[in-house]
Amino acid sequence: MSPTNPNLTKPEAEPNQPSKYLYIETVGCQMNVLDSEMVVAALRKKGYALTQEPELADAILFNTCSVREHAEEKAYNNLHHLKHLKLANPNKIIGVMGCMAQKDQGSIFHRVPFVDLVVGPGQLHKIPEMIERAESGEKQQIAVSMGRREGNIEEIKRSHETFDPLRDPEMRPTPFQAYLRIQIGCDKFCTYCIVPLTRGPEQGRSPEQIVAEARILADQGAKEITLLGQTVNSYKYVEGERTTYLADLLQRIHPIDGIERIKFVTNYPKDMTRELLETVRDLPKCSPYLHVPAQSGSDVILKRMKRGYTTADYYAMMDRIHEIIPRPSVSSDFIVGFCGETEEDFQGTVDLVKRCRFKNSFIFQYSVRPGTKGAEIYQDDIPEEVKHRRNLELLEVQNKISLEDNMRFLGETVEILVEGPSKWYVRKGQTGDLRQMTGRTICDRIVVWDGHMRQTGQLLPVKITDVYAFTMMGEVETIESNSEPLELYSIG
Ligand code: SAH
Ligand code: SF4
Repeated sequence: MSPTNPNLTKPEAEPNQPSKYLYIETVGCQMNVLDSEMVVAALRKKGYALTQEPELADAILFNTCSVREHAEEKAYNNLHHLKHLKLANPNKIIGVMGCMAQKDQGSIFHRVPFVDLVVGPGQLHKIPEMIERAESGEKQQIAVSMGRREGNIEEIKRSHETFDPLRDPEMRPTPFQAYLRIQIGCDKFCTYCIVPLTRGPEQGRSPEQIVAEARILADQGAKEITLLGQTVNSYKYVEGERTTYLADLLQRIHPIDGIERIKFVTNYPKDMTRELLETVRDLPKCSPYLHVPAQSGSDVILKRMKRGYTTADYYAMMDRIHEIIPRPSVSSDFIVGFCGETEEDFQGTVDLVKRCRFKNSFIFQYSVRPGTKGAEIYQDDIPEEVKHRRNLELLEVQNKISLEDNMRFLGETVEILVEGPSKWYVRKGQTGDLRQMTGRTICDRIVVWDGHMRQTGQLLPVKITDVYAFTMMGEVETIESNSEPLELYSIG
């Protein structure tokens, strides 16, 4: 019986039934989603099943993000909220994993003394064993990778290894969409960014391992595979005389039966080579969706960020994309309010967004990250309200472009990979199999329509009938369309 909610009872343990329950909460990037999938798979082998209720769980894990301060504050708040559960049941194991664990290490035990485990993203394979030790009473265990200056490079790399072949299909965004890590860590050291410190040196996984894993994912029903790396298009694997690049990997994954779509994120502008773009153009399963963060449209700021390119380089890359790929769909990330960003610098960013016409942009307000070069050498001198205003202004410019671009799809029929029922809208009176369904085009645009649960996982032709900045509405071409007007109710 739960100490906080008397309506929650643990299912009776039956033969072959799991006897222990795991609650896992994941925030941050796709890498974290994938890491949680691995940890769940490892713990299932130890007899754990998933629960959505922290009250019922024997072990609670928070998979955390350190990219911005706000995400960390939220994680600490959520951890403090677990205090009453730990007091009511001291045997409940509470663990912090991911980038915040690597960054804050043992100080987490000072801030939240009832935490049992702190595990960095390169040490996740140790979690099952650490949980066992915690069950036998060992308190405050820590497993983190080596710092960037704490040894020789090979030792540091090994301490950041991941245990990717172990997977749990149930943890995927959908059963037919899977992430596949091709690269660990990052060596770019952009001055604002904590990732090279939390995820360690850049390492490409071996092509053999990657292709073997892609085959397993396809056998498990994955139709869409998204290759992951912090700078995925910088992927490189050297073996004797042979060097494998991302373009080679795409060539090798493309023929695998069952895989219908291949995506890759996140791209680094300088490594968007002609050869890679031509490969994307020539392989029909490759998505023309390219997420290539620009971060700023000011050369002064880009230099201060140590991004390694100028706005002219970025524009040249955009020209190359448009020259080679017939209908590309490019998205970006921006940081507004970076140290010393003037109104003129910011206008440079607005101009870049207008000129590049991204499908969408993720816009972040600069957040100082202790330990980074930026925190050390620059002053965080842009007031919060200025960051906020620039954020809203840039978002408005981007949203207008997104809407205008989506309008080009009106009346067109696009192929959709159906992801499932829409989380955000329910159609009035919908019951049973009839649902507001959602899916994506090969260029990563979200489409919703009145459909059926049984369409989930299929590739369907959908005619676009209406568009917004973030979504397009449609009708499936092959089934009878509903002539009633749509009444949408947000449940998000
Ligand atoms: N590897 C990816 C991005 C990783 S972090 C890349 O290089 O593009 C995801 C995004 O968070 C970044 O693109 C950047 O826009 C943002 N970000 C990173 N550090 C930040 C910080 N200190 N403050 C605000 N936003 C930040
Ligand atoms: Fe961070 Fe820059 Fe590496 Fe991306 S490329 S993870 S922004 S250091």
